[in-house]
Amino acid sequence: MGAGHLVMTIDPGRGRDRYQGIVSLDETSLVNTLQNYFSQSEQLPTRLWLAVDDTSAAGFLLQNLPANRPADTLEEDDDWNRCVHLADTLTNAELLHLPVEKLLYRLFHQESVRLLGSSPINFACRCSRERVERTLKALGYKEVKQIVEEDGDVEVRCEFCNTEYALDVVDVEHLFAGDFQPGPSDTRH
Ligand SMILES: [Zn+2]
Repeated sequence: MGAGHLVMTIDPGRGRDRYQGIVSLDETSLVNTLQNYFSQSEQLPTRLWLAVDDTSAAGFLLQNLPANRPADTLEEDDDWNRCVHLADTLTNAELLHLPVEKLLYRLFHQESVRLLGSSPINFACRCSRERVERTLKALGYKEVKQIVEEDGDVEVRCEFCNTEYALDVVDVEHLFAGDFQPGPSDTRH
């Protein structure tokens, strides 16, 4: 994991404000980092299990919601401890391959489980070639031209989705072409 920070951005949508939590990376694992985020930001007992193979990733999150109990008693809650203990028996294979109904039944068939509706999720990034070009324009012709001269082209990688954008010397000239006004003319009219 190395050093660094994890930034969690939550966008509730419908015109409500986005909010962000930042925690240091826990060098031991992503799970520990995320659990630290939940204990610092949400202050609710939260456990997380993650599993990956070559083609998929799956996660299981357990959170003790306060209901009618004071928050500082939640960690000692017997029901909570039993649920954590049961979830700890999950294997990576179960997490990756079992349908959620089966998985919940296998773990919690002695509890009363209510399964809410699901929403499809998808990954999206707001980066685009236009945004990259705008950023380069803000850097200025001189700077960008220098990069092209040294490296042959300008490569910009989106740190969020890992898409790479490349502009060669022609692209760069084209990008800044509109910015140069003809110099003052000597010709009198
Ligand atoms: Zn992106």
